[in-house]
Amino acid sequence: MKVIVLGAGIIGVTTAYYLARRGAEVTVLDRQPGPGLETSFANAGELSYGMSSPWAAPGIPIKAIKWLCMRYRPFMIWPLLSPTMWGWCLRMLANCNAQSYRINKGRMVRVSSYSRDALTDLLREEKLDFDLREMGTLQLFRSQKQVEASKADQEVLAEFGSPFEVLDRDGCIGAEPGLAHVAQKFVGGLRLPADRTGDCRMFTLALAERAAALGVRFRYNVTIKGFAMEGGRIVGVETERGRETAEKYVCALGPYAPIALRTVGIKVPIYPIKGYSITLPVTDPDAAPQSTLMDETHKVAITRLGSRIRVAGQAEIIGYNRKLGPHATDTVCHVVTDLFPKGGDVAKAEGWTGLRPMTPDGTPIIGPTRYDNLFINSGHGTLGWTMSAGSGRLTADLVLGRPPEIPIDGLTVARYGQ
Ligand SMILES: Cc1cc2nc3c(=O)[nH]c(=O)nc-3n(C[C@H](O)[C@H](O)[C@H](O)COP(=O)(O)OP(=O)(O)OC[C@H]3O[C@@H](n4cnc5c(N)ncnc54)[C@H](O)[C@@H]3O)c2cc1C
Repeated sequence: MKVIVLGAGIIGVTTAYYLARRGAEVTVLDRQPGPGLETSFANAGELSYGMSSPWAAPGIPIKAIKWLCMRYRPFMIWPLLSPTMWGWCLRMLANCNAQSYRINKGRMVRVSSYSRDALTDLLREEKLDFDLREMGTLQLFRSQKQVEASKADQEVLAEFGSPFEVLDRDGCIGAEPGLAHVAQKFVGGLRLPADRTGDCRMFTLALAERAAALGVRFRYNVTIKGFAMEGGRIVGVETERGRETAEKYVCALGPYAPIALRTVGIKVPIYPIKGYSITLPVTDPDAAPQSTLMDETHKVAITRLGSRIRVAGQAEIIGYNRKLGPHATDTVCHVVTDLFPKGGDVAKAEGWTGLRPMTPDGTPIIGPTRYDNLFINSGHGTLGWTMSAGSGRLTADLVLGRPPEIPIDGLTVARYGQ
């Protein structure tokens, strides 16, 4: 079976790897000179199975207004004249209710739990170097109000069987000893001990090498224009270097998936939500984070990746804008300096920006389309690294006609009437 995977981000590479493992002849196309150079490049590094929740939740519209007013704000929306953008925002708002939240959370937990198990299997089979740590995630509360609000999350975690620990100030310092320097700045936390952390780009690169060793052909510097269709079937991928053909096609173009898919009439509500990160060297390992810490106030994640610290966050609605302005990373710089003042050297931080491929319901789009030889694996939003192994394995099974190991209802593009 010849398969073309469009996109060499974390999602395209995991898909290609599992397809090759199952015997397919795979070609991956990407416009970049290597794998994982766009959204998968410098994310927060959390494999956050416990925090697999949609952003669209009850109470979010009010919180979003408050966030807009903060100095170091986690959220920003630009008043663009874009019907696509406002249409996406309305669809997201329509999901901010208890019933939709429960349905969407259930779907996301299904994919992320499967991904956790798939990654466990994968790491047994392949030796991959990506600064993995298995020390959980700590959500840090700066106010008693946040502690109280977390009780609703704890109920949901208990319902979905995700292990968690409620920590007081000393408990937080026990989990993250570097916080001892700023103990007066927080009151407690919620720890998710089953979460992992690791560098998504390093993993993507290492898995692409394994995939290449299995025979996957990576064609870089190839810009995709769309699909070619004849007689109701997909007959190729149109690129700036001509047409590429196979028997089956998987669209794993992250935030750019809607652009390719609309050339064959499929409308997917994936919208780019811009985020930022910095990566800085650790100066004092004991004063630096040991795993991931999520600052609930600023919605910024601080992750230890070997001898580096990655600090990521912010959600900016500004279309396909990938510019890194001079003050763009002020929020992430502020949070790491505030919580780990002696841990790393912010003066040596490298800034980055990426576009999360977000669906309005938070759930990725995985599975078949109305064309029998076209599949989608895109729209993983804030959790593409977390959900990558399961999404890749699931897609490979579906493409090759094998029975999927988890149900796909509610995951495919059919939920949008497409
Ligand atoms: C600030 C930030 C922090 C994050 N933190 C986390 C986290 O801690 N944990 C987590 O699980 N997730 C996190 N994410 C989300 C995660 O990074 C994404 O969900 C994931 O990287 C998406 O992967 P992808 O392969 O779908 O997209 P991408 O990595 O963007 O891959 C898509 C590929 O398609 C290629 N492409 C696009 N258009 C074309 C074209 N026309 N022609 C050819 N090639 C094309 C691109 O070059 C790219 O390589 C974060 C995201 C951001 C922005």
